[in-house]
Amino acid sequence: MTSIPKSTTQEPRTVIRTLRVRLYPGTAANGQYLEQLAGACRFAWNHVLAGHETDYRTWKASGKPGGPGDPTFFTLGKRFTQLRNAPGHEWLKDYSYEIVRYTCKYLGDAYAAFFDPDRPDHGCPQYKARHYTKPAFTIPSHVRIEDGRLYIPKMGWTRLGPVHRYADGKPLTVRVRQESEGKQPKWYAYIVFEVPVDHPDVCRPAESGAVGVDRNVGQATDSTGAVHEIPDTTVEDAKIKRYQRRIARQKKGSNRRRGTGGKLRKLQRKRARRRDNATHQVSRKVADTAHTVVLEDLNTKAMTKSAKGTVENPGKNVKQKAGLNRAILASGWGQLERKLAYKAGELRFVDPAYTSQACSRCGHIAKSNRPSQAVFACGACGFRANADHNAAINILVRARLPPVPVPARGTGAAARRGALPPWSVARPATGTPATREPDMRGVHHRI
Ligand SMILES: [Zn+2]
Repeated sequence: MTSIPKSTTQEPRTVIRTLRVRLYPGTAANGQYLEQLAGACRFAWNHVLAGHETDYRTWKASGKPGGPGDPTFFTLGKRFTQLRNAPGHEWLKDYSYEIVRYTCKYLGDAYAAFFDPDRPDHGCPQYKARHYTKPAFTIPSHVRIEDGRLYIPKMGWTRLGPVHRYADGKPLTVRVRQESEGKQPKWYAYIVFEVPVDHPDVCRPAESGAVGVDRNVGQATDSTGAVHEIPDTTVEDAKIKRYQRRIARQKKGSNRRRGTGGKLRKLQRKRARRRDNATHQVSRKVADTAHTVVLEDLNTKAMTKSAKGTVENPGKNVKQKAGLNRAILASGWGQLERKLAYKAGELRFVDPAYTSQACSRCGHIAKSNRPSQAVFACGACGFRANADHNAAINILVRARLPPVPVPARGTGAAARRGALPPWSVARPATGTPATREPDMRGVHHRI
């Protein structure tokens, strides 16, 4: 998953970066047009989907060999073109052909994912209901951005919020999305830029070194000992649950239910934004620490291992629960993975088995190495450390990579911690841990 290859090519190397920018339709009529354009896309999706499903059923009933034809962007797009030219659908000509037809691209992708044997969880494409679909559409090409304005085909120019980065980059596509409902909905443009790798606005990963990251509930610890907190969303979670219970009681189609739905979605957006922001910040900090980032391969090996259990540990339910917990964690940390994939110089995955129970200094694996959730204390060599930090070092060691050299950035606490080789973090001879976790110190004195 190397984003920047070492070899140099003749072509100027570029990277793809997306910016989310506020879009101001300007007038109520323009806002309405954007909603209608998104509605036309939704209509096209539903129509083309229904057409393909009919074809499929007809083919199945006929008992003929072959198939109903592959639902690809090309074939689905043809179906849309027929629809647009059919009598009674002249209204579709009020909207850009290119934009509305591009909906078929998404439908084709959805079908491809549905048929992909590597994605067994991906279901069949569904119809989009009006009130459960965020108005959105994509300008797939010929994007025009001038003087802080975006051109919407067949509508005109709309003002954009400040574009702080990549202003001189080449805009490839724009996804326009309405992100809040009500009387004054907000619109956002997701502008996809192609920019040269050496563009000053493009953040570069650290030049060298490697860092392991252990992902936990609410925080991630890297092998330099730095703890990256993810905000606690229990307040939002509780409120969301309350509104969900309320909405379940309310009568369908009532004004009160609609109001509750608005509040619910607002909270969900807030929660998503907080997580998104936090994972952006954490991934940036980690990518700045070292070139190569090592994570546990939580999605594949850990799940299956936990589910199966082992001969020595027949506690079936415990194992399953652990697997479930891990799955939840992995889903929460999937965002970090995706962001690191393009921010870090290189992203590697290692087998996560026993990273929390193995000693990062001598390799001794035992459950008793964990006297508590926070502490790691090796039963063989006496190594003591913060449990998450020990796990992060294990992750790094498994990738067989040298740790981060002395970080060039700053002289702060993180830099000082990073300057120490991982195994010198805790010194059993003196019994003074060099990490500064308060819980760590407390536990040390108690034992
Ligand atoms: Zn040990």
